[in-house]
Amino acid sequence: MLHHCIVQLPYEACGLLSGKDWRATTLWTMDNVEKSPISFAMDTKQIEAVFGEMKKKGEELIGIYHSHPTAPPYPSHLDIAYAAYPDAAYIIVSLSGKSPEIGCFRIQNRQVTVWPWQTVIT
Ligand SMILES: [Zn+2]
Repeated sequence: MLHHCIVQLPYEACGLLSGKDWRATTLWTMDNVEKSPISFAMDTKQIEAVFGEMKKKGEELIGIYHSHPTAPPYPSHLDIAYAAYPDAAYIIVSLSGKSPEIGCFRIQNRQVTVWPWQTVIT
């Protein structure tokens, strides 16, 4: 995940994590169709294809990650406004400091709560 975020610089990188019993075991790197350093959007066809593959593996969506090349690891106003998966973990990798920082949140009804990422990424 960190590698994907770094190679996509200066743009935001994004992807999905799936697994079972709240343990993420599969990483799906996604294209940021906006190719932007301050926002991301995933292609709906690519999302559908990945959800199909997850189902085949018997896994479910656990988390959505994206990077913040220049901002702290906290959801932006856009991230909160477009958060569409209330049950998923929103993982943000900040690359603005000397070493990457990871934040993990739940975004429900535009309310952000911190979720320890160690419980999700193993
Ligand atoms: Zn963001």
